[in-house]
Amino acid sequence: MLDWLVIGGGPHGVHVAARLIDEANVPREKIRILDNEAMLLDRWKRCTHNTGMQFLRSPSVHHIDLSSSSLRRFAKKRPARKIEKPFTRPYDRPALDLFNLHADEMIKRSRLQELHIQGYANSLEVFDEGLRIGVSDANDSEKNSTIEARRVVLSLGAPRDPEWPEWAKGIAESSAEQGRMNAIEHIFAPGFELNDTPAPESVAVVGGGISGAQVALRLAKAGSQVVLFSRHPLQIHQFDSEPGWQGPKFMAGFSRIQQPSERRLRIQDARHRGSIPPDTHAALRREIADGRIEVLEKVEIDSAQFAQGQIHLKAGESWRAFDRTVLATGFTGRPPGEEWLKEAIETYELPCAECGYPIVDRSLRWHPRIFVTGPLAELEIGPVSRNLSGAMRAGERIAAVAQTNSH
Ligand SMILES: Cc1cc2nc3c(=O)[nH]c(=O)nc-3n(C[C@H](O)[C@H](O)[C@H](O)COP(=O)(O)OP(=O)(O)OC[C@H]3O[C@@H](n4cnc5c(N)ncnc54)[C@H](O)[C@@H]3O)c2cc1C
Repeated sequence: MLDWLVIGGGPHGVHVAARLIDEANVPREKIRILDNEAMLLDRWKRCTHNTGMQFLRSPSVHHIDLSSSSLRRFAKKRPARKIEKPFTRPYDRPALDLFNLHADEMIKRSRLQELHIQGYANSLEVFDEGLRIGVSDANDSEKNSTIEARRVVLSLGAPRDPEWPEWAKGIAESSAEQGRMNAIEHIFAPGFELNDTPAPESVAVVGGGISGAQVALRLAKAGSQVVLFSRHPLQIHQFDSEPGWQGPKFMAGFSRIQQPSERRLRIQDARHRGSIPPDTHAALRREIADGRIEVLEKVEIDSAQFAQGQIHLKAGESWRAFDRTVLATGFTGRPPGEEWLKEAIETYELPCAECGYPIVDRSLRWHPRIFVTGPLAELEIGPVSRNLSGAMRAGERIAAVAQTNSH
């Protein structure tokens, strides 16, 4: 039996696994990372590549290695030196290429890819000495197996399926039936890779947050004529929550709140959901001035039709037709994994708040053998839990438990 099974091989799962091995001395043969993708970090790389983002939103001290200066040091070494602009201002944010090179180097150095099992966790059962995870084959959902481990970390990232607006659901089917598979797409759909080559064409990008803005910029650069639909006025914020949430300034008060529902309200209040950093906004303004992007703010699409090879979108009384529609509407707010964890939550009475998210202790323990990170740890780690800094914070806490209590 394994000592640890980390479910999810994104930035969070990889970071936690590295800490368990390097800081808590968990033997390599006693830990595995279960992820349905072919390679570790595949989902992160696909989602970030789809947006066309050049630089991370977070500063260079946030990454998946153990020492906070690791990325800075790596930037001076050979393969990284080729990157023309490794960091950008403000806040010393790394280029996506640099971040990924550094992450790959760290995975190679720690031989983490060897610990990856490809498969999808679909059930969780507690028995005397440990946990039994049901796993379906990533390529054949009929093929099932189990993995046993003393402890499990749930690092599932955002929910598997992104948020599709109601009006978009039917249109995807009708356009596919008429042979236009890519007439409407979601940039975060499982396995999806955005193709920006069939330009010039008219494209509607739906979603006024950072990803929508970045996709609009990517497609405009490739020669498309883009209309960006945002249901709210564009909101400009450097980060998706104030830097005070990274440390005791705001977290001290948050940790004193007893009521999970009150913590949820504080998180909702603190997170600038759907916001855009100033440099992305400036790039958007340049494209608007050059006539390649049009931004429609406070415009809500309420229905859509597919006719004569085009998607027709209706907002209020007006209709507009596009060759293609790209959704950047994020993910649902539901807890990740709820579809397969539901039974375990009921059977083992795993505590959940009204919002459906786990109530965990300071060490991120949901059950003596189950730990969480990312969105599932939000009620303990606070508004930055989903981010890279949240991974670092969760990794520290879980490794500390593993160090003090190895069985
Ligand atoms: C476009 C984009 C840009 C971002 N930029 C930044 C940034 O600049 N700075 C920052 O701090 N944060 C950023 N974030 C937020 C956050 O850091 C990322 O979402 C990051 O990917 C979160 O890591 P994760 O490991 O929690 O999730 P993911 O990267 O989604 O990884 C989770 C993994 O778990 C797998 N998985 C899920 N369920 C199962 C299951 N049942 N069985 C097996 N495998 C499973 C998934 O396939 C996936 O591979 C960004 C997010 C996005 C979408």
